Amino acid sequence: MYNKQKVKEIVINYLITDVCDYHCKHCFTDIDFDGKPNYMGHSVEDHCNLIKRLYDFFQPDNPNNPLGNRLDYSQIRLNVTGGEPLLVPNIDLIFAFASKIGFNPSIITNANNLSEDMVLRIGPHLRQLGISLYACTRESQIEFGAVTRHNKYASLDNVRERVAMIRKVNPNIRVKINTIITKFNYNDDFTQIIEDLNPEKWTLIKPLEFYNREMGVSFEDFNAFTDRYKEKFKHCLTIELGDSFVEAFIMVLPDGRFFSCEVTDDTGNNTYSQKFDDIGMEKAFYEVFVNYRKYQDHLYIM
Ligand code: SF4
Repeated sequence: MYNKQKVKEIVINYLITDVCDYHCKHCFTDIDFDGKPNYMGHSVEDHCNLIKRLYDFFQPDNPNNPLGNRLDYSQIRLNVTGGEPLLVPNIDLIFAFASKIGFNPSIITNANNLSEDMVLRIGPHLRQLGISLYACTRESQIEFGAVTRHNKYASLDNVRERVAMIRKVNPNIRVKINTIITKFNYNDDFTQIIEDLNPEKWTLIKPLEFYNREMGVSFEDFNAFTDRYKEKFKHCLTIELGDSFVEAFIMVLPDGRFFSCEVTDDTGNNTYSQKFDDIGMEKAFYEVFVNYRKYQDHLYIM
């Protein structure tokens, strides 16, 4: 028996697809989740069935829920990520369903497909809008790989407009910005765009070393970068070194498996559970490693 820690909500990350329209150079979706092409073959009904099973399993009073006797919580966030979730057809119906059954849904998106229509469709259902914002100039956006095959990307003006619009559609929504620091964006000045977006959270991330060899910045440079913003944005800024993410999340794939990223000296290994349909969700949970201390520390950052 553990002393239960009180937390506001727990977070389950749902990696709804490994397809993305960008090709960021640091991104592990380039590596592919497990060598298979993507998770676009699942219907809305498939996603909703799995989401309902997850919701039931992670209820605090479910005796088989591994978090139930560690954490004291009443809310569960479903953080939908990828790949690029907005490429999944009818994603709005999936968010609507998740919200209806009791999840606090959130998304991490590159915002390239965050059209006005999309804002209207998903905005009302979301607890948090997370945007991966990697560059402030066209040159660094392209060097970063945060562009489509035709060098199209969400401009800062578009991001500003859509964030303002989603706050009108849903005044309770939280906005979170994620920025990975590499040699491609190290010299960009994020002050104006972060002032304009006024996010509730802004996370600056140094990528894991093994993703980092060709594009990374030294610790010295990373610290110099973060020092530029620490004081001005202290109300929202968090700083993450890549390895602090390792084993810090509960991650689920659309075919009903848990997934985790473990790291050895110079490489990362993805670990997959067997399918829930084959061994049940509880046994599957224990087939991947979650560091509960890190998981709890990240609940307020995710
Ligand atoms: S936008 Fe996100 S998912 Fe897409 S390539 Fe970049 S880091 Fe990967």
